[in-house]
Amino acid sequence: MARYTGPVCKLCRREGEKLFLKGERCMSKKCAMERKPRPPGASGQSRGRRRAHRVSDYGVQLREKQKTRRIYGVLERQFRRYFREAERRQGLTGANLLCILESRLDNVVYRMGFADSRAQARQLVGHGHIDLNGSRAKASSTLVKPGDVLSVRERSRNLTYFKEMAANLEHKSVPEWITLNAPDLSAAVDRLPLREQIDVVVDERLIVGYYSR
Ligand code: SF4
Repeated sequence: MARYTGPVCKLCRREGEKLFLKGERCMSKKCAMERKPRPPGASGQSRGRRRAHRVSDYGVQLREKQKTRRIYGVLERQFRRYFREAERRQGLTGANLLCILESRLDNVVYRMGFADSRAQARQLVGHGHIDLNGSRAKASSTLVKPGDVLSVRERSRNLTYFKEMAANLEHKSVPEWITLNAPDLSAAVDRLPLREQIDVVVDERLIVGYYSR
């Protein structure tokens, strides 16, 4: 699966807000948004000011869509596919879209507390450390369903990363739609989240507006 491999802090600076793409670093003073909170590029500061004055409705919608894509680490084509699927489902398209994004396997691994960021969760899946319903999870883009169980592969449990993770897991908070079994290094998806259970700061109506043009 293709993915963005450029500098991620640049994405936050481009969007003008923290997207929390790097785990613990995002909470520290090393965060690029703390040190240089302006658009990337030599003339970022003045470009940012100019842009603020002439941003159109389309521009606002585009930025919200890009921001959401970047938070979940999804490329444009896949994101558009999720949007079409969200339209087909019953209910509000924007809420459906966020629900689909939340049900991506890499997001669920992150939400379970097994990784500090979605990017790290993608690595864990890519390196074959995660089982889905007892079999090795194949792709981060897999959409989980209610009743699915994710766990750390048996042979990965002795790795230092997972030993340290297990020691900290009790202190992690997981969303209410997931039940974590910390001693077993596993978690069950009880149901898919409602919009109000998704804590990303996104105005999904703008994304719907973007694709409805
Ligand atoms: Fe964004 Fe995190 Fe980088 Fe800060 S450290 S700019 S929040 S990815």
